[in-house]
Amino acid sequence: MIDLHCDTISVLEKLGNGVNLKKNNFHVDIEKLKMNGSIAQFFALFVKLDEYDNPWNHFENLYDRFKKEIEENKNEIIHVKSFEEMKNNKKISAFLTVEEGGIIGNDLNRLNQLYELGIRLITLTWNFKNSIGHPNLKGFYDKGLTDFGKNVIEIMNDKGIIVDVSHLSDKGFYDVIEISKKPFIASHSNAREIANNPRNLTDDMLKILGNKGGITGLNFCPPFININEISSIEYMIKHINHIVNHAGIESMAIGTDFDGISGNLEIADISKMYLLKDRLVKEGYSEEKIDKIWYKNAERVIKEIL
Ligand SMILES: [Zn+2]
Repeated sequence: MIDLHCDTISVLEKLGNGVNLKKNNFHVDIEKLKMNGSIAQFFALFVKLDEYDNPWNHFENLYDRFKKEIEENKNEIIHVKSFEEMKNNKKISAFLTVEEGGIIGNDLNRLNQLYELGIRLITLTWNFKNSIGHPNLKGFYDKGLTDFGKNVIEIMNDKGIIVDVSHLSDKGFYDVIEISKKPFIASHSNAREIANNPRNLTDDMLKILGNKGGITGLNFCPPFININEISSIEYMIKHINHIVNHAGIESMAIGTDFDGISGNLEIADISKMYLLKDRLVKEGYSEEKIDKIWYKNAERVIKEIL
């Protein structure tokens, strides 16, 4: 399986040195990834812009923590930056991402720095307006990318950094369609028709995402699965069926948001993913289709962009 989004590094950084990536009580650790048979895990470095006078400094702290965890577990996990690097090792591949493009401020040089540090996906916004664009919150739905943000997309396309529209405003989504020359993804977003939340994608967005060769990762966050805030497998299947119907089977992927979510989770951590897989089998999904959802669609995008 390839999971396009988790917040585990932020949790580790917050709790200090008493916890680690090898084995912990959170949703994702190396033991659970091995139990799940994970090929690759995308680790987000999440910076809450309003919490830090200097967001870039906090990004660097998270980055250092990620590198420390990888170094301490180098027999089992490796920081990869390309499709080939992922394919040519037998360990768990860790892709590094930034959730909050605003950490670069108005400095394009920082985008180059992120690339040099091995960041291969940027979630353009989180829940704040930033130098790149606007989040999908009340008051911002119809406000899209800034001119600087349009520039950022072009450079990300040129360098080979995946553009992630999860959290981005509806208008921003349509701006990305206009500008991006490469497929883009929603790393952790569901279907708005099934759970009416602005973090999810409308049917029109799903259709466009599919036409552009993009993917969306199924997010387990309870309010994005079901407005009753229960993250049930039954509703995960509803989202998958709906996304497959509107975007196509080629666009369905996994983006758990583990360690960034809490509440009523039927799939309690990444080692329990087989519960969803078993249910997909019962729903009549063929092995070929499940493989696409589980890793092949993500792999295709990684190959094309990285
Ligand atoms: Zn998020």
